[in-house]
Amino acid sequence: MFIPLPLAGGLGEGLFLPRDTPSPDPSRKREGRFGDRNSDMARNFKTLDDMGDIAGKRVLVREDLNVPMADGQVTDDTRLRAAVPTVAELADKGAKVLILAHFGRPKGQRNPEMSLALVTRPFEHVLGRPVRFIDDEGAAEAIATLEDGDVAILENTRFDPGEEKNAHETIERLASLGDLYVNDAFSAAHRAHASTEGLAHKLRSFAGRQMEAELDALDKALGNPQHPVAAVVGGAKVSSKLDVLKHLVTKVDHLIIGGGMANTFLAARGVDVGKSLAERDLTGTAEEIFDAAEAAGCTIHLPYDVVVAKEFRPNPETRTVNVHEVQPDEMILDIGPAATEALGDVLKNCRTLVWNGPLGAFETPPFDVATMSLARTVAALTREGSLVSVAGGGDTVAALNQAGVAGDMTFVSTAGGAFLEWMEGKELPGVKALSS
Ligand code: ADP
Ligand code: MG
Repeated sequence: MFIPLPLAGGLGEGLFLPRDTPSPDPSRKREGRFGDRNSDMARNFKTLDDMGDIAGKRVLVREDLNVPMADGQVTDDTRLRAAVPTVAELADKGAKVLILAHFGRPKGQRNPEMSLALVTRPFEHVLGRPVRFIDDEGAAEAIATLEDGDVAILENTRFDPGEEKNAHETIERLASLGDLYVNDAFSAAHRAHASTEGLAHKLRSFAGRQMEAELDALDKALGNPQHPVAAVVGGAKVSSKLDVLKHLVTKVDHLIIGGGMANTFLAARGVDVGKSLAERDLTGTAEEIFDAAEAAGCTIHLPYDVVVAKEFRPNPETRTVNVHEVQPDEMILDIGPAATEALGDVLKNCRTLVWNGPLGAFETPPFDVATMSLARTVAALTREGSLVSVAGGGDTVAALNQAGVAGDMTFVSTAGGAFLEWMEGKELPGVKALSS
């Protein structure tokens, strides 16, 4: 089962609290502490519905086309598919659609290996209509030859050293190419770059469909959610998600900690975690998070049983043990079946879930068991309509795909860094610029 913390007197024999944690009263008023700012952010912007007649207009659309490639082939076209609704809608309305995007990290220099010319054919394939590639040189002339409803991709925004500096000249150059601006790249919205932020102040600006869907989903999850709200946070390290944890305890009713991150919290509670990945120097920080949770009325849950092995490789000899029984030469690589079941029970009483980070080293069998099981439970609760589930994070999305349930979540954010910054409660510059 999961240990609801804080534990009276620490983790001693017989001190585990009962697994059926009473749910907080959902009618409890929490407005004072809730992210009204986030909710404002979510609806203080115009969308494609507000653009009016755009036939013949040049619309600059910031998309995220930064897809992984190997041997000239796109290995995951998720981002290309996500761009389709906005691009197709604008083209259908007769706009000249000019896509702005970055590709790789060219650091302000032209680099043929990072040219968006490489992504043009794959995007054309996914969009199902012709797409032109327009180089920076002679861009204005090339754009002038476009017909209404045509779609073009402009060259990698990061070839221009002014892009990441949000430089005035770059904003002016881009603005001169279009009449209107649409930002559809939530995943780049944590950066204040010319194409993600500066341009929004220069041209009339709108959120694309993907941006709109992401902001609405995030608002449902933390901005203005139905209670009780649970967050599951896993993954390797506490240090990479400290700000996330600190923010979440002020927002959610249940914080469920799994993955390598749980080891640090268990260690802080005096559990000997053996050879496990744990950040023992963060014991003080873990204590601060426990205190902040208690002050905010958030229950922290840690695993009660765990799966351990002496070696980290596929299918080693494993043991499932109580957290107190981990031997000095063993490492915790997954949470155990009792903890997984208890976690499911907590979620059955919740209306909203935010999930970031796998519960175990899921890439290496059999340490995927808890993460796969949680994914299936969340999918079932979401299908039943009892849970709004929002998940994000590179490895979390991979785990959901591995479980085959990504499509059953209410919303899966593919936004990586921007999703985490949002989970930290930060205002994203690209989103803020749309609402001003
Ligand atoms: P995300 O990309 O979804 O934000 P993270 O990058 O924070 O997630 O964490 C994912 C990584 O954490 C995975 O590679 C996984 O193997 C690792 N991990 C999870 N639990 C453990 C554990 N108990 N020991 C070691 N690594 C773990
Ligand atoms: Mg990761």
